[in-house]
Amino acid sequence: MKLTDISYARAVMEKHGIAPQKRYGQNFLISDNVVSRIADTPKNGNEELGIIEIGPGIGTLTEKLATRYKKVIAVEIDPSLIPVLADTLSDFDNVKVIHADAMKTDFAALVKEEFGDMPVAVCANLPYYITSPVIMKLLETEGLFESITVMIQKEVADRLCASPNTEDYGAITAACAYYADIEKCFTVSPANFIPPPKVTSSVIRMNIHKTPPVTCESKENLFRVIRGAFAKRRKTLSNSLSGETNKLSKAQIEETLVSLGYRADVRGETLGLADFARISDAITL
Ligand code: SAM
Repeated sequence: MKLTDISYARAVMEKHGIAPQKRYGQNFLISDNVVSRIADTPKNGNEELGIIEIGPGIGTLTEKLATRYKKVIAVEIDPSLIPVLADTLSDFDNVKVIHADAMKTDFAALVKEEFGDMPVAVCANLPYYITSPVIMKLLETEGLFESITVMIQKEVADRLCASPNTEDYGAITAACAYYADIEKCFTVSPANFIPPPKVTSSVIRMNIHKTPPVTCESKENLFRVIRGAFAKRRKTLSNSLSGETNKLSKAQIEETLVSLGYRADVRGETLGLADFARISDAITL
């Protein structure tokens, strides 16, 4: 029986005496079509792909992943779901559930231990309360994963995929562009979950760059410049950046920007990753 069958999913929860927990961001998928499309997204024609899932819930996406990929490691924080998953996934010998907090998981060690040299992708319906920190943690593993497919709140997906000079463009857009090309795959309405969330969701696939798309002297300084550029939205870049350092005055920053060919009053939200890399090599925060 499929876990996307709402009566079956309810019966499983009743049998184990559980209900979706708000504090863990539990909105379980109940659409077979949506779950299949998410599970198909990491495919790259490579049958040998290993998958890390964050937050398997009652195992709905996990069972689809298990039929498509060689090995699935699912990291779940909620202790009450561990016996449920042992039950719902008992037919699969290529799935291992780990009871852990994804925010505290050492993914490099986990991948080495569980997958060895196998190419690995992430596929998850993420809990919305930790979307951005989980995505940054996964991206910062730089090259550990081939791709990262996640379902997230549509507004966050729009921010991650935004272009400069748009309302949605921000520090997280430029920071993520350093690590990956991000594809918006499809949107999912609240009716596809129990309980239905208040927001529309989007599935995105982040194709991890093998080498960063820009070169710069210090990645740490580049990220400080990106964060600083958006710290005071709608202010000029020189204004924002001078608020982040006492090493340089606003006038000195303006002078440097002009020497690089930018207007003295250029704003951060008009600049792309390549601009931030150039500026970062000229301005150390
Ligand atoms: N994959 C299931 C599905 O699609 O129906 C459940 C998705 S639900 C939106 C998010 C899942 O992430 C829940 O099972 C929740 O308990 C789990 N979770 C929440 N915070 C977590 C964390 N820090 N680490 C690991 N899992 C977490």
